[in-house]
Amino acid sequence: MQNEAIELPVPVDVDRETGKWSVDGLPMVLVPQHLLVNNMDAVEQRLGRDESAQLFRDAGRRSAWHWCAHESARLGLSGTAIVQHYLDRLSRRGWGRFEIDALDPSRGDLSVRVRHSALLPVDGSSRSVDRACYLFEAWFEGALQYASGESEIVPVHEIRCGVNAEECLFTSDGSGRCHDK
Ligand SMILES: [Zn+2]
Repeated sequence: MQNEAIELPVPVDVDRETGKWSVDGLPMVLVPQHLLVNNMDAVEQRLGRDESAQLFRDAGRRSAWHWCAHESARLGLSGTAIVQHYLDRLSRRGWGRFEIDALDPSRGDLSVRVRHSALLPVDGSSRSVDRACYLFEAWFEGALQYASGESEIVPVHEIRCGVNAEECLFTSDGSGRCHDK
């Protein structure tokens, strides 16, 4: 099927003076997917997948938490609604199609399926990992933490990935909360 230009699923504001983009009042950049994937590949080649995931974990959590706090202040959303809004916006910004199967921030409960993840290897990339979308793990952890209002972090894992399955699947360790401070 032929792709066609459609109206953007999120409103993009462009500063006439600086050329900078923003969406929902937050600065954004439009990045080629191969650049993103090649950067991840470079880090994984040097450190391995698990170390790379660890390296980006804190930054990912903090960024998701910050995004949720921004949107919560702007729209008055909290709890389940802010996580739903976050995943909807990720879907609209082209990171994949995010579908929530279970979500209860107060219990640290989360199960999300992602189809068409933007973190999967692309043509021309030499990237080869079995679970490619670990950045999302940290993002979900940050969003869950924000929505629960707790300082505790509930770990989220990608237990199945689109590199060798039809879709990616993420679940939280809702019952075994860890204190990661
Ligand atoms: Zn994946």
